[in-house]
Formats: sequence, structure tokens, C-alpha cells
Amino acid sequence: MTNNQLLKAVEEFGSPVYVYDAEKIEFQYKRLTNAFKSVKNLKISYAVKALSNISVLKLLNSLGSGVDTVSIQEVQLGLAAGFSPDQIIFTPNGVSLSEIEEAAKLGVKINIDNLAILEQFGTKYPKTPVCIRINPHVMAGGNSKISVGHIDSKFGISIHQIPHILRIVENTKMTINGIHMHTGSDILDIEVFLYASEILFETAKQFKNLDFIDFGSGFKVPYKAGDIETNIEELGKKLGDRFNDFCKEYGKDLTLAFEPGKFLVSEAGSFLVKVNAVKQTTSTVFAQIDSGLNHLIRPMFYGSHHDIVNISNPEGRERFYTVVGYICETDTFGSNRRINEINEGDVLCFKNAGAYCFSMASNYNSRFRPAEVLWYNNKLHLIRERETFEDLTRNQIEVDFSVKPKKALAK
Ligand SMILES: *Cc1c(COP(=O)(O)O)cnc(C)c1O
Repeated sequence: MTNNQLLKAVEEFGSPVYVYDAEKIEFQYKRLTNAFKSVKNLKISYAVKALSNISVLKLLNSLGSGVDTVSIQEVQLGLAAGFSPDQIIFTPNGVSLSEIEEAAKLGVKINIDNLAILEQFGTKYPKTPVCIRINPHVMAGGNSKISVGHIDSKFGISIHQIPHILRIVENTKMTINGIHMHTGSDILDIEVFLYASEILFETAKQFKNLDFIDFGSGFKVPYKAGDIETNIEELGKKLGDRFNDFCKEYGKDLTLAFEPGKFLVSEAGSFLVKVNAVKQTTSTVFAQIDSGLNHLIRPMFYGSHHDIVNISNPEGRERFYTVVGYICETDTFGSNRRINEINEGDVLCFKNAGAYCFSMASNYNSRFRPAEVLWYNNKLHLIRERETFEDLTRNQIEVDFSVKPKKALAK
């Protein structure tokens, strides 16, 4: 999208606003399916939690994607967006058996990552096949908050507990139809990922009724110039060949599954804000914007970097700014960033604002969550209205304080 198109979104729908480029989402989807074109059965299931707007889900549905969900509400969103149950996989962590039962009743694919739940589910529903989430104990990522494959992780069933799984399967006569891993975000090193995949293949050999092997996600996308990104094409070639060999050995054309979130939507998103004030202190120039950690928490939560560009003055002289929010906490988006000269009222654009941005937004400080806009077919489409005061009070029930408490009667 061009700066002018982005500026038009602010003009039309106000600030702050999230804008997503449908073309970029499609480009990424096709890039991934292309990379794995040597594999006969490939299934991409978009991770809803990255960006859960129904129009985005519908777009991915139209491209042929399935969805990966982590809560019963995400399952319901997937159904609302038109996915058939068999296009939805439910991969929760630490939820109750009853939530898994609810999902199973809706007919979606079930992925279980806990031995106790596996045993209970298998005992009650031996005829419903399930996938199991394995923890291969491989550190594929750099950020400890988003690496989920290490030994102390709460995610998955340890590979050291395979004998337990096999015993449960034998006792309950349940069917395991898939093997899954998700080692977390930021695969920097394809070799490490391939190593984890070997562990998954070894595990897969022990289960005779598989339909698919799900390699999760964790593809790294570039957040700034010079960033390392997962080489999808190389991964597709290497893992694709290895997977095809494995299928021969296994004696069946299994489906190779992935469930990317960030890879599909991160770069498609722009978060547009306006500058309320430029504040010169003794040591720093602050650009104070009409947003804060309530709308985009990744920089404060994970220390994530988002490039910030002044799209109102792209030719202006570059100066150093610390970009901060309006929330009554320290909410710094970026310190000492080199940005084209900023004036009050300028529109700044946060890059890579597609994944884990709006979906993590809150009403903190009683602010409204922003509008969302999809750029599709050369047009801006409003896909979520900015909240209003009614949204803030909708579920609140007021107590009548004119009714005074009864005094306890004296004996
Ligand atoms: C969050 C999540 C994903 C998506 O991860 P990205 O890094 O956004 O690609 C995939 N699978 C599971 C089980 C997840 O929880």
C-alpha cells in the first residue's frame, strides 16, 4: 500500500486505525504453499489468535487455508467465518476437558497436549480421533517468552512420555490421527527446525493410524531492515523432500500441516496514529501519539521492535525521537528512533502491525479500541468500527446506592 492510501484511511476512518493489506496476506499464503509444492497433501491452518477479524478469516478461507484455534471462542469465530469443522483444528493449552468436549461436539479436529486429558478424553470418546502435541525439547527461538519447546515449557507432551501415550492409546482403544509440534516463534536456524522434525518423524513411526503431521509455526518475519527471516523456500525444499521420504517409509501419503500466524499477517498490517505533541526535554525529544500500550503492547510486553515511519512528511529531515503513548504508565514504542521531522498532527505508521497487535488490544485507561480497515481490490473496507462509549459500559450493572444498608438490629 502507498502512503497516500494509508493517509486516506486516517482521513476516512480517523486515528488511530489498523489497516491490513489483503494482497500481502495472499502473497504470503502463496509463497508458503509454493515453497512446499513438492508435497502432495499440504494444509495451512492460519493461527486465528494473531489477527482474528472475521473478514481476515474469510479472506484466508477464500485462499484455501484452514484455521488453528486455541479457545472455544476462536473455534466459533472460525465457524462464523464459514470454515467447515474439518478445516478447523483446536490446539488449546491448559483448558478444561469440557471445553475440549465442546469443540469435539462441533466436529473440529482436536489436538491434546496433556496426558491426563488424553486419558479422560480417550476413555469417554474412543471413537473420536485426536492429534497429540509433542514437545521435542528443542529451542528453536530466541525470545524466552515465545519459545515453547524447551524442557520447562508448559506446552506439549514430552517426547520422554511417549510410552505413557502408547499405554493410554492401548487401554482406551482411541485413535491418534496426527502428531503436532509448535516450538514457538522465531525459527532463525532451519537446521534446528529440521532436527526437531526428525524427532517428530521418530515419534510418528510409533503411531499406525496417522493422517497428518503438523509442524506448527514459528516462522520469523523481518521487523526491520537487515533482520534475519526464516528462509521459507529453503525450508520448503529440505523439509518437503524429507517429508516425502518419510511418507514412503510410513507407507501412506500423509498431510504436511503448518499453522502460521505471524508469517501470513504480520507484514500486511500498518498501525496509523497521530502525533498529539512534540515534547522537548533536557535530553530527549518525545513524539507523543494518540495511542498507547492499550492498542499495541508488543514493544512493552516482549520488547518487540516495530519500525515507525512519518508518512505525513516522508521527505523531511531525519531527527531522533522517542515515540511514546498517552497511557498513564511508561509506554515507549521506540527510543531514539531516526524519523523524518515530526510536527503535531503528523500521521506515524507502525510497520508489521498485523500479528498480535489488534488482537492484544484492551480498553485500559477506558480508551476505545481502534477501527480496523482492509485494503482489498483497490478499496478501503471498514471491517471493524472504532468502539464507542456504549461498548465501555455495555456489560456493567449498576448498584443502587440510594438504598442504604440496613443496620443490624440491636439485641
Ligand atoms: C500461536 C500459535 C501459532 C502461530 O504462531 P506464529 O508465530 O504467529 O506463526 C501456531 N500454533 C500454535 C499452537 C500457536 O499457539
